[in-house]
Amino acid sequence: MQLPSELDDLYQDIILDHYRSPRHQGLLDAPDLRGEGFNPFCGDQVVLTLGLDEAGRIDAVGFEGQGCSISQASASMLTDHLQGKTLEEAEDLVRTFKGVMQGEEFTPEQEEELGEVAALQGVKQFPIRIKCALLGWTTLQDAITAYRKTQG
Ligand code: ZN
Repeated sequence: MQLPSELDDLYQDIILDHYRSPRHQGLLDAPDLRGEGFNPFCGDQVVLTLGLDEAGRIDAVGFEGQGCSISQASASMLTDHLQGKTLEEAEDLVRTFKGVMQGEEFTPEQEEELGEVAALQGVKQFPIRIKCALLGWTTLQDAITAYRKTQG
């Protein structure tokens, strides 16, 4: 595996579990939102699709990707936290995670809400891998931005 061996064992287990058994795998047939992300530093790719219900809440999530374990595990963890959220709430999540990857700390409430995502905090010790961890999240943000443009 391509994980930095310095990562805490518990974190490694969580990341590898998501890498080997990604959640919400497979793209939606008729998504409301679609985003594609590529991390040239590592060759990671993520395609993310979302469906919205009539109230504008995310009611379906699917992704596909390939690349290193951190990129794929992070995208998988993200998909676990989107169901039932509005796009604004999803953006808040992206902002929180980006902040943590850039050196902020999760508040206890955020850590509780995000659960396994906290396992990715160890990645920030390895600056080259931060882009891997962020790929799914920036892809989500791009998909939301593109969707808003189509909505005028
Ligand atoms: Zn990577």
